[in-house]
Amino acid sequence: LWEAIQNSFRQSKSQVTFDTLIAPAKPLSLSQNQLEVEVPTKVHRDFWEKNLKAELKQYAKTVTNQEIEPHFVLEGEFDPYQNDRPAESNNFEMDTPLNPHYNFKTFVVGEGNKMAHAAAFAVAESPGGLYNPLFIYGGVGLGKTHLMEAIGNHMLQLNPTAKVKYVTSEEFTNDFIHSIQSNSTEKFREEYRNLDLLLIDDIQFLANKEGTQLEFFNTFNALHDNKKQIVMTSDRIPNEIPELQDRLVSRFRWGLTVEITPPDLETRIAILRSKVEEDHINIGNDTLNYIAGQIDTNIRELEGALTKVQAFSNLSQEPITPHLASQALRGLQRTTKTTITITSIQKNVADFYNITQSDIVGKKRVKQIVVPRQIAMYLSRELTDYSLPKIGKEFGGKDHTTVLHAIDKIEEELQTNNELQEQLNTLKAKLKA
Ligand code: ADP
Ligand code: MG
Repeated sequence: LWEAIQNSFRQSKSQVTFDTLIAPAKPLSLSQNQLEVEVPTKVHRDFWEKNLKAELKQYAKTVTNQEIEPHFVLEGEFDPYQNDRPAESNNFEMDTPLNPHYNFKTFVVGEGNKMAHAAAFAVAESPGGLYNPLFIYGGVGLGKTHLMEAIGNHMLQLNPTAKVKYVTSEEFTNDFIHSIQSNSTEKFREEYRNLDLLLIDDIQFLANKEGTQLEFFNTFNALHDNKKQIVMTSDRIPNEIPELQDRLVSRFRWGLTVEITPPDLETRIAILRSKVEEDHINIGNDTLNYIAGQIDTNIRELEGALTKVQAFSNLSQEPITPHLASQALRGLQRTTKTTITITSIQKNVADFYNITQSDIVGKKRVKQIVVPRQIAMYLSRELTDYSLPKIGKEFGGKDHTTVLHAIDKIEEELQTNNELQEQLNTLKAKLKA
């Protein structure tokens, strides 16, 4: 059959066209009227799709007396699902239930997540509106899954019969592959395209999965056309996901894309405090501040650190104190910032300017003391994670506005005073050593 087709094209097309665009195509298989044809490049594929497909079908029909549907695949891409990881034991009728703890009440709002939180809440209150799809991205352990499931939980609370589905993009892939293998893609589509809310977690894992991306594209369109809400998360923005089809990237831009950034010290403390209250753990604020100061990477680790401290206290039968926490978390400590404490800054600065540490934390208003005091405050802000009120407290109970004023003063002075800049560099090097 293929030879006959080629001969027919040889006659109807120019020699150049035939040699460059037609001859390189190779038939791969013909089964159930599906003809797979391999072509070397996209240009070939487009040409076949646009200019030769109809003729090919026509000709194949006259020869075989059957409707034959040709598919053009790029070399090395014979199976469009080859990259998609097949299911192990996943059954798409099985839903991943939402974690009830992941709700808006347990979510602590801070600088790094307030926008994502607001958007998520708006979506939960009025799905299918302006923010469709909602795309939340950010680093690991920063609360993306928590927020996403909170949307689902909230929506179910408002409307218990709403059809809500949460899947990771891997589960979506597995469901889809499974449905192909078991000849039940209709069922798959019926399930996914009739939802009120589809939550797809960690969409970056759709990278490289051509077949699944196409299916997701169609799912997306079906839901979006019906004003059904779609929420996705990822560890990066859509156009940085490798091998994500442009049409998906552009669809994702239709709604709102929000970032979650790592929590600042205040938020970390607030998260720990809410955990402690929820679990009725007896632990003082000083220890919470200590733990929050140690772990600045992500919230999952922050929670892990709290658990660790608790376990350590249980095992050693000792009450939880900052000291105990530091023992429990030994080895977890960050390299630079942790070793620098406000006290060590005060000591070093005092030594450097030939005054005493009590001068630094005292109230004397002579210039030889005031300037080093301001420098110590400035360095405390720069080299530690402590808040302004906390720094003020460590300097003999001064107000946070005093600290702010000191920082401003030093910054201003640094504009013109090179000598001061050098002194600061020396001090910093000593503190970090
Ligand atoms: P991600 O999906 O971004 O990797 P998760 O949503 O799984 O992160 O969050 C990791 C852990 O931190 C979860 O236990 C979650 O409840 C908790 N968490 C994250 N952000 C917050 C927050 N703002 N308030 C309270 N807990 C949070
Ligand atoms: Mg997650």
